Formats: sequence, structure tokens, C-alpha cells
Amino acid sequence: MKNLVLLFFLFSTLTTCSKKPIDLNNEAIILKLEIEANGTVVPVHFQPGSFSATITLPYGSKEIKINTLWLSEGASSSKKEGYIFVVGTTPAQLTITSESKNTSNIYTVSYNLDEYTPIVLKHGLLKVSGNKIVNKNNESVSLAGNSFFWSNDEWGGERYYKSEVVSWLVKDWKTTIIRAAIGVDDPGGYMFNPQANKARLKTLVDAAIKEGIYVIIDWHSHYAHLYPDEAVAFFQEMASTYGAYDNIIYEIYNEPKFIDKSAANDGKFATWDAHIKPYAEKVISAIRAIDPDNLIVVGTGEWSQKVDDAAKNPITTHQNIAYVLHFYSVHHKQWLRDRASAAISKGLPIFVSEWGSVGYTQNDPETDLWMKWCKDNKMIHLNWAVNDKSEEWSVVKQNASTTGNWSENDLTEAGKLAKRIISTWK
Ligand code: MG
Repeated sequence: MKNLVLLFFLFSTLTTCSKKPIDLNNEAIILKLEIEANGTVVPVHFQPGSFSATITLPYGSKEIKINTLWLSEGASSSKKEGYIFVVGTTPAQLTITSESKNTSNIYTVSYNLDEYTPIVLKHGLLKVSGNKIVNKNNESVSLAGNSFFWSNDEWGGERYYKSEVVSWLVKDWKTTIIRAAIGVDDPGGYMFNPQANKARLKTLVDAAIKEGIYVIIDWHSHYAHLYPDEAVAFFQEMASTYGAYDNIIYEIYNEPKFIDKSAANDGKFATWDAHIKPYAEKVISAIRAIDPDNLIVVGTGEWSQKVDDAAKNPITTHQNIAYVLHFYSVHHKQWLRDRASAAISKGLPIFVSEWGSVGYTQNDPETDLWMKWCKDNKMIHLNWAVNDKSEEWSVVKQNASTTGNWSENDLTEAGKLAKRIISTWK
């Protein structure tokens, strides 16, 4: 009972003393300032007593808006919440005046657009030169990034097709390339629900363009050669919509498997010469009629491992074509590196649009060997996959946020390994 009385006394003392009706407040300070630039809220950090703050704005920012502004008691600001500064040469300044009007302080918010050069601004349109992929200055380019999971309705991975996830990967993983894996002929894929799958694709592609990173538009099928007309129509639309952007790479066939779905039991693989190359030439012709220059990558036989077959009989009807190699360190070892190295020696440009680690551990010596190979051969490679499905290759744990902001604890072991590789890739 004694304690209660004391608490009540303290409370009544605090409430009666909180207002200072006689002595006007002489402080003219900002307690909190948040600005919004290009749709992203950017906190501004400043030292007490210091009147300028430097921030790095998101790429493409044209204006900055005062989102949140908290001042010392009674103080007023020359600019209110909601005020918009145009990004330019004039410094963004706020004059804060105290309640007593006796003091005022000028806060200058300096911003920096140069610190972060988006990868696409740096390298421009990627193209094939001999057995390498080069940038606008004809220098070899090696990139590391993330493949999203199948986009199909209700497979789970489609929940991560969000612009916030792309922004998070750019910011936290330093990813420079992503892949929208648009499911095609499997349930919930593009052929069943084109609108929803296209909307997911557009979300990722538009986010990648905004962030200034590369993005692969991937026709994620194991049997694409059975549906060439659908692929032609899809890529004509993509080339018309996005062909002018340096960010875009077309992947016209993910992983060819068997001749048809009934041949799966016989193990009759679709071959490069008979099935994949004729399909690829048809789709490439359709793209090139609209978009003459963006890189096109083509899956190779047997889950994109038969780069040797493509090396014997590459596509010669069009330029800027690279050939896809996929590896999963649990299955694919030195024999596949040797096969790929031999194909490169024959002049084949190779592109790794998917790789997966052994999973459940960050200790993966085979992935280390693959990454050394990727580095030696200046590969562009993407880790499979941005998803929370309970399987060894998902980068986040089940029910991790679908808008990014992942802590280290949200990442799986495979995710931690992939993040370490991608974020430090040079
Ligand atoms: Mg183009």
C-alpha cells in the first residue's frame, strides 16, 4: 500500500511539471527526421549539436520528401512534414526556431547519389564476345545473384515475387542479377494462369530496372520444345515491353529433360540437335525481330548439363547467344566442370542461371570448387532459390518474411552460404 501511494505521488508530480507555461523552451533541435526518396524511407542520422547529415539516396531519386519530423518542445520548422525538395544543386535546409523565438538552427541535409553506381549503369548491355560475356567496354563481366523459385500459383515461391524482396537482396546481399523463373506447363504456370504469372514477372522486372540490376526473364520449363508457339508469343511480348532496357536477359528454356512427358520413364532425353536447337532458333528469331541486341541464354540437354552438345553445334543464325549450365554440388562434381571447361575451350560462352549447394550446412567444399571455377572462368551465376520451402536449397527458413528484412537467423545454412558468396563476389 505504501508503494502505491508513492507511485501516485510521483505520477501527479510528473504530470503537473511536464508543461512549462512561464519559461519558454529555448531549444531549437530536431529529434527525428525521416525522408522518403524514390519510394524508400531513408532515416537521417545526425549528431546532437551537428547541423548537417549526409545520406545516400536510392538510385534514381529525383526528389526527397520530409516524411517524419519531430522537434523539441514548442519549436517550429521552416519546412513541414510532406515538404518536397527537388534533388539538385541547392542544399536541402531546414531552419528550426525555438518556442521562445530566441534561437534558431539551420540543418543541412546533404545527399549523395554517386556512392552507389548501379551495376547496369556501370556495365551497360551485356553481350557475347567469343566465349565470354562482356560489358559495354568489351571487358569480361562476372556477376553473382539470386534466382527466384517457380512462379506457379500456390507453389509457395510466388509469395516472394515482391519488389521489397528485390530491394532487400540489392541492399543486404549486394545482388547484381536476379531471375524470374516463370513456370510454364506445370500446374499453376503461365499456360494455366498467364495474368497472375505475368504480374509476378512484371513485379520483379520493374523492381530490377528501378534498382539498376540485371534480370533474367526465364521460361521455366522442362518441356518447352513441345510448346514453341506459346514461347514465341510470350517472348515477343517481353521483347516489345522490355527490349529497350539494358537490364534484360532472356532465358528461353530452363532445363530440357525428356522428349516428352511419356518418355520420362524410358529415359529418352530431348537432344540438342533434334529438339532443343530447332526450338531455340525459332524463339530467338522471334525475339531478334523485335529486340536486336539483348543477351539470350538457352538451356542445354539433361537439366542444362549437356553444354558439350551445344559446343559441337552452336547456334549460328543469330548473335549474342550464351548456353546454360546448371550445377548442384550434391550431384555435380569435377566431371561436369571438366565438361564445361572443354566446351569453353571450344569457344562456347556459358551462363550459370542456377546453382545449388549441398544444403543444410555452410561447409560445402564442392561449392567452393565450383566458385573457384566460376571465378576463373568469369561466370555469371545465380543461386537457387529465393523461397522458404522445406528443402535444402531455400535461402530462408519456413515462414520467413515475404518482404525481405531478414535477420541472419531467418536464413537457412544454404542461405547463409549463398549470401556470403553473392555479397562478396568481385
Ligand atoms: Mg534491346
